[in-house]
Amino acid sequence: MLRWIPVEGNSEGRGQGGSPGSSPPGAKEASTRGAPGARRGGAAGRSGPYAMFPRPMPFSEILGQERAVESLRAALRRGALHHAYLFAGPGGVGKGTSARLLAQAANCEADLPDDACGRCGPCRKIAKGVHPDVLRVEEEREMARAGRWEPKGGRTPSRDIVVDQIRELVDRRLSLRRFEGRRRFVVLDPADAMNPQAQNALLKTLEEPPPETTLILVSSSADALLPTVRSRCLRLGFAPLPAAQVEERLVAEGRTPAEAALAASLSGGSLGRALELDAARLSERRLAVEQAAGLRADDALGWIAFARDRAPDREAARETCELLLVWFRDVLARASAGERAPLALSELAPLTALAAERLGPSGALRRSDGVKGALAALRQNASPALALERMVIGWFHG
Ligand SMILES: [Zn+2]
Repeated sequence: MLRWIPVEGNSEGRGQGGSPGSSPPGAKEASTRGAPGARRGGAAGRSGPYAMFPRPMPFSEILGQERAVESLRAALRRGALHHAYLFAGPGGVGKGTSARLLAQAANCEADLPDDACGRCGPCRKIAKGVHPDVLRVEEEREMARAGRWEPKGGRTPSRDIVVDQIRELVDRRLSLRRFEGRRRFVVLDPADAMNPQAQNALLKTLEEPPPETTLILVSSSADALLPTVRSRCLRLGFAPLPAAQVEERLVAEGRTPAEAALAASLSGGSLGRALELDAARLSERRLAVEQAAGLRADDALGWIAFARDRAPDREAARETCELLLVWFRDVLARASAGERAPLALSELAPLTALAAERLGPSGALRRSDGVKGALAALRQNASPALALERMVIGWFHG
């Protein structure tokens, strides 16, 4: 449900993507992905805007992305969609939903000037992932998880979007005429999962796509894309959401105000991620951040032990990094703005003040940068434990 048609490499005749209905509702979005919120494994942990907004939803319901959304709506009004977009920004803030809405609005039968009705045939097909002119390309491993990938020559599915998939897209799918849509869309999500070979195979199409076709590259680490790819796309930035907005939406979804406040503060401006945090994961995260806050800033061994303990796998390591970013952001705010600094984790204020005193603004910033470096290393397939250990060592000896 709510899936788009995937494109597989070497999958003659399997274009409809196996069984779009086979994955659990909301098994994935994207916006969340790639990035924060993103590559969570398995159906259990995945969710995102598709899961959250199965009801018809116009552009106006996208939270907090007025600039990006207005630019897309203006292009719709002018009938002048760009042929290649790069939707860049953290996970879970609406990039994937905006890509879907753009495809819907461009193909909607209600003929609204710059929006989708969400109810007509094309709108519904696109939402369900069964519109033949709206193609989605994702990592082989994700497709395997959803049961839509067949072993090829005995190899295991790649964690990348591989060159075969792009060739299949470029040489076969895009060479066909459109089936029923007014405009064809290809959504590559997460685009940064394309390995360099795959990116190179896409260059020519990015420069000169077939008529009435728009490619949308969705990425939470757009800077990891080849410059040649980035320069061929019109880049639209999606910003982290203010915690208050995330909180408000969580309350509207039925969370208690206390839970909503904590989830909003721990999600780093990502609605997708905040919605993934059920009570159990929330208390687990609270524990982790309390542990970090309880460590003295100069306790190198303590931090190394924390890092080892908190990186049993890639996903856990990534979550730990996200939490540390929230924590050091608070420390930086306290160190630069003093007692009046608004804190995301206000109940930890006394510990925040201590850390701010020891680290100062530059120390907090440096740690924060180290965490971002670790996140980048994790995306590059570094060993989770090693990436976090190096991060800590870098703080103390960089
Ligand atoms: Zn419609």
